[in-house]
Amino acid sequence: MTVLEGKSVFNDVCMGTISFYKRKESVIKRYKIEDTEAEIGRFEEARDEAKNQLKELYEKALEDVGEANAAIFEIHQLMLEDLDYCESIENIITAQKVNAEYAVGATADNFSAMFRAMDDAYMQGRAADVKDVSERVLKVLTNAEDGVQVLEEKVIIAADDLVPSETIQLDKEKVLGFIMQHGSANSHTAILARSMGIPAIIGLGDSLSESMDGKFAIVDGFAGKVYIEPDEATMAAMQKKQKEALERKELLQQLKDKEDITLDGTKIKIFANIGNSADVGNVLKNDARGIGLFRSEFLYLENSDYPTEEQQFIAYKTVAENMAGKKVIIRTLDIGADKQVDYFNLDKEENPALGYRAIRICLTRQDIFKTQLRALYRAAAFGNISIMFPMIISVEEVLKVKEIIKEVLDELRQEKIPFKEDVEIGIMIETPASVMVSDELAKEVDFFSVGTNDLTQYTLAIDRQNQKLEPFYNAHHKAVLRMIKMAADNAHAEGKWIGICGELGADTTLTEEFLKMGIDELSVSPSMVLEVRKRVREINLR
Ligand code: PEP
Ligand code: MG
Repeated sequence: MTVLEGKSVFNDVCMGTISFYKRKESVIKRYKIEDTEAEIGRFEEARDEAKNQLKELYEKALEDVGEANAAIFEIHQLMLEDLDYCESIENIITAQKVNAEYAVGATADNFSAMFRAMDDAYMQGRAADVKDVSERVLKVLTNAEDGVQVLEEKVIIAADDLVPSETIQLDKEKVLGFIMQHGSANSHTAILARSMGIPAIIGLGDSLSESMDGKFAIVDGFAGKVYIEPDEATMAAMQKKQKEALERKELLQQLKDKEDITLDGTKIKIFANIGNSADVGNVLKNDARGIGLFRSEFLYLENSDYPTEEQQFIAYKTVAENMAGKKVIIRTLDIGADKQVDYFNLDKEENPALGYRAIRICLTRQDIFKTQLRALYRAAAFGNISIMFPMIISVEEVLKVKEIIKEVLDELRQEKIPFKEDVEIGIMIETPASVMVSDELAKEVDFFSVGTNDLTQYTLAIDRQNQKLEPFYNAHHKAVLRMIKMAADNAHAEGKWIGICGELGADTTLTEEFLKMGIDELSVSPSMVLEVRKRVREINLR
């Protein structure tokens, strides 16, 4: 038996086979070849195979998601037949006497740079498509496996760390738990594990190796340990622990339908965070009073192109309708930093967390922002939707957002498209700047929601993704808690409400402190709703 130790992000036990997440190899080697004819033949064969794959994908998508959404695979097939594209690859092979992989990679870079430089937004968007089809050809050429996991049975997913675009591709029904070499408590793998209510251990370092793929393991999320090929005594002890955890979960179920109220009668609302409409089932199962954070960017991450107004409208409307009148706070897209989407064609940045992300993208690429706002205001007519904006640093940004909203509503009015006018709007308090001007911001919005994941990152200057910084990281740092208090006081001074939607909101050792600050709402992973309710109901503030 081998024992690995890391940091747990969710308390539970699971046992099963380890499956290492397979990622496509994107490093392309350049080497000289003699027989250019044979090399062109290799390219042509790979291209034809890629076209066959796209044809199959098109047919599957046609059945699953309809013609409009399947069309992208047809466009990709046509791209592979494009004469300029194929000639460029063949010319590079012949002129430079180099391998087909290199020629495909270089052509993809050249063509996507050319598309990106065009004036037309549609053509700019095609840069990602060229990259995408070329990746497909490269995968055939190099026999690389796709990153998408087709899971046959329930497994424990192992990886260095997963980015959001990878986690969304997983078949969640088949995931028992996560074990990661890197990652941090606020990384998106951790957030996903909590929202799924499954154990996850991060920061296992090199002790977790690919040689463990296929081995039986137990993940003990209470102790932060992974047992590879456990002995009998460990197996028995863990089975007992797993049974106890299940009993505790069942006990918590008794808190369903109970009020979120302290012993002295102080009320707080316990809401849940979601990433997509499929998570609503978990929200209702755990009896959250509403949705405090719908991370809308996951809609963008799931797509291979900008989601249309209609697609978004249906997603938001579905969530609002399923929540049947309960509040649903939808955050506008928070792309950038660790949430990268190819078709946004964002430049590589030195400091992505301090870079072009979230509201900064929305305010400069208003076409994308307006499409989302139109969908949101239209969907708001079907339920109790509030809208919130991420990464705000100034009052000017909020005023600009309000100006854009006004334009969007004028357009909808002119087009006679139904929408709800008086939608509650709020901002995320997740930058120290927003805390410092929260007195002024409170005058402009209806509510605040504290994003403690980013607020902690920016206040302590600790990258939330960097596991090496864990020793310096103190989730209960006074500076962060004082900032939350300051924002709460400023919100209340203007008669506005304030919630917490970052991971700290679920930290039950802080629940009493949050209640004392007068926090009005805590939005936590669905799996934590009843835990937090239990804690609230034990507290006596007097
Ligand atoms: C946060 O920063 O606390 C937050 C809730 O947003 P995200 O984790 O999606 O950045
Ligand atoms: Mg954030």
